[in-house]
Amino acid sequence: MGVSTELLRKWLDSYDPAEITIGVVASHSSLQILHGARQEGFKTLGIAVGENRRRFYSAFPGADPDEWLMLDNYREMLDYAEWFREKNIIIIPHGSLVEYLGSTNFKNLQVPTFGNRGILHWESSRERQRQWLEKGGCSMPKVIDDPHDIDGPVIVKYAGAKGGEGYFIARDYRDFKRNVKLDEEFTIQEYVLGCRYYLHFFFDPTAEDGFQVQGRGANAGKSLGRLELMSMDRRDESNVDEFYKLGSLRDLREMNLEPSFVVTGNQPVVIRESLLPRAFEMAEGTVAASFELEEGSRGMIGSFCLETIVTDKLEFRVFEISARIVAGSNPFVGGSPYSDINEPFMSTGRRIARSIKKAIRDGCLDKILS
Ligand code: ATP
Repeated sequence: MGVSTELLRKWLDSYDPAEITIGVVASHSSLQILHGARQEGFKTLGIAVGENRRRFYSAFPGADPDEWLMLDNYREMLDYAEWFREKNIIIIPHGSLVEYLGSTNFKNLQVPTFGNRGILHWESSRERQRQWLEKGGCSMPKVIDDPHDIDGPVIVKYAGAKGGEGYFIARDYRDFKRNVKLDEEFTIQEYVLGCRYYLHFFFDPTAEDGFQVQGRGANAGKSLGRLELMSMDRRDESNVDEFYKLGSLRDLREMNLEPSFVVTGNQPVVIRESLLPRAFEMAEGTVAASFELEEGSRGMIGSFCLETIVTDKLEFRVFEISARIVAGSNPFVGGSPYSDINEPFMSTGRRIARSIKKAIRDGCLDKILS
């Protein structure tokens, strides 16, 4: 079913601009989103399953929602669509919302949401992500189609895995065969040795100043909007981050241990300043390519994250894109070494609210919602 621009505009026509409320599922990056919305003067709604979830927010009065919608199951959100619209709610999607609802339900949720839901189609498959990112000029880790061709470290990723769960490293075919679950869909990628940086960008298609993304193809010669670097993190991954303490990979194998990549937290980082021009080049290409993905694509809107590894040759490899706010922006509720340069205390959550506030003022909410 999805949501057409005509339908979105119809809903927005009935919204009272003075009563617009920011709604978010209470998880992932919700503290930051709720706090940022409040900083920009919005009323807020938290959506949760389980009293335990709700109660914990009272520990953070700066983010505690003005109102709650308590559900038995997140899928009930679909039934509350009209209720959300009557309350002038704009939902800010994050990774947990998409996971809890399922991508099809999320696409069909009949409520205005921040960003472009159409991009989910490209983000949700590794193969399509690769087409998109390579079109944008990003270098990605090589893919090994035949496991017999493994001749150096590779990482094996399962299709539906969340947060790196179940991934494993193999050095050769024997290793691969010993660990692989053949009944699941997987991709074998070159293991890129280097340091990880998760780059959080924001693309504002309504701004005409700052670093303007230059269009390509049908958009050649056009400025598409402003690209901002909000912050950067590195994920803590259990247990691979602490694995080295137990000895070499061989010692670990003898103990029957394999590294896992389950995300447990995030740390703030900055990158060598001389790498920033390339970081912007990749992000600009990725945004420009997002408008070329299919006929009539509305492109990237708002927050996105390029997940990268920088090698000792100072080259970036991009292994994934997230096309919405990432939890890695959570260390920056009070701003980051990058966003502070432009405006202090600007989190990604607040940047989203700021963008909605400006669009309400300029009467162009339909340009940043879907
Ligand atoms: P999410 O959807 O939460 O971002 P995911 O399940 O899609 O995670 P990836 O982000 O692709 O998983 O990878 C998980 C982790 O595995 C990365 O954070 C990184 O530590 C490691 N990793 C992924 N790809 C590579 C690679 N090609 N080389 C080296 N390490 C990698």
